[in-house]
Amino acid sequence: MEKMPFYLWTEQTKIRQFWENLKQQKLTTTYCSECNERHWPPRHMCPKCYSIELDWTELKLEGVLETFTEIGIALPEFNAPFLVGCLRLDDNGPMIFARMRNYTRESVKLDMRCKIGFDFVEELPIYVIDPL
Ligand SMILES: [Zn+2]
Repeated sequence: MEKMPFYLWTEQTKIRQFWENLKQQKLTTTYCSECNERHWPPRHMCPKCYSIELDWTELKLEGVLETFTEIGIALPEFNAPFLVGCLRLDDNGPMIFARMRNYTRESVKLDMRCKIGFDFVEELPIYVIDPL
């Protein structure tokens, strides 16, 4: 059986738009038009008021690195060691957890400004944390 890319499993779901936006290098999430709550990750239903009237909103692509760690052991296809971090996006944005690209352990500092970058793993669009 042929391996199916993960994002294709979401083709019929309400978060399909997230993957389409990511392919266009836009990081988006859902926003509840009933209670004004913004969610991360995107939802099919508002966890605050249970409304299904959700819109898409684009997130800022820069922020401050809140924390990070180095992953030393992983499956071979992940090419360990590598860094992962939590980036607090600007304008009271959500905390984004992602792999850090183009950094070394020595070049990373807490509270440094970083940006979201985009890439593909096979056909799967992904976001990463990049240097400014
Ligand atoms: Zn709501």
